[in-house]
Amino acid sequence: MTDLAARLSAIDSRIADAAHRAGRDPADITRIVVTKFHPASLVRELHALGVREAGENRQQELSAKQGELAELTDLRWHFIGQAQTNKAGAIRRSADAVHSVDRDRLADALHRAADDDQLLDVLVQINLTDDAGRGGVAPGDAETLAEHVLTLPSLRLRGVMAVAPLDEEPASAFARLRDVADRVRAVEPSATWISAGMTGDYAEAIAAGATHLRIGSAITGPRPDRG
Ligand SMILES: *Cc1c(COP(=O)(O)O)cnc(C)c1O
Repeated sequence: MTDLAARLSAIDSRIADAAHRAGRDPADITRIVVTKFHPASLVRELHALGVREAGENRQQELSAKQGELAELTDLRWHFIGQAQTNKAGAIRRSADAVHSVDRDRLADALHRAADDDQLLDVLVQINLTDDAGRGGVAPGDAETLAEHVLTLPSLRLRGVMAVAPLDEEPASAFARLRDVADRVRAVEPSATWISAGMTGDYAEAIAAGATHLRIGSAITGPRPDRG
């Protein structure tokens, strides 16, 4: 077994353990492998190991890898980074889901970029910090943004996404996210995704109800030097 295969299966058993501890079915949890800064060849290896969900946080890197691996038609790409409105078209062409919709204008731009009947899955990103400069909408504004997304017929509102703040216990941050998720689900009952949990806090995210984990370095190994 390669190191990559060993890390992937180790993380998957830890995810299953955390799910069982939380009284949840591991089958209800989607593990997205975040491949940022790693070459397309690593994504290809992951695909050969059964990975079907990959995450990227920069548009150019997403577009390049998706283009290079276009023949892997069952691989789903998740865009998880802050998005500039003028990159919305490029993001839409490469991504199957965008986790980081944090303002009306970005939702509008993603909608305008639709060029076929395919719906784009989107999540409203929630800022769990006190720093308004971080990505995400304030928790109190989540429903208003969700309602706006629902007016855009080429977008399918799936739920909410967040990154836990560095200066807070992830469990308490994810409990707040859970509240926001419940409120968004009251607006749109099919918006059931909670995208939360990274290498350092996925067990806490699972305990708080996360449905989509975004795990990078624990699976891929350390990210290569960006130079
Ligand atoms: C990089 C990144 C991740 C994965 O981080 P790891 O700590 O390597 O698991 C998850 N979510 C977002 C938004 C990221 O940018």
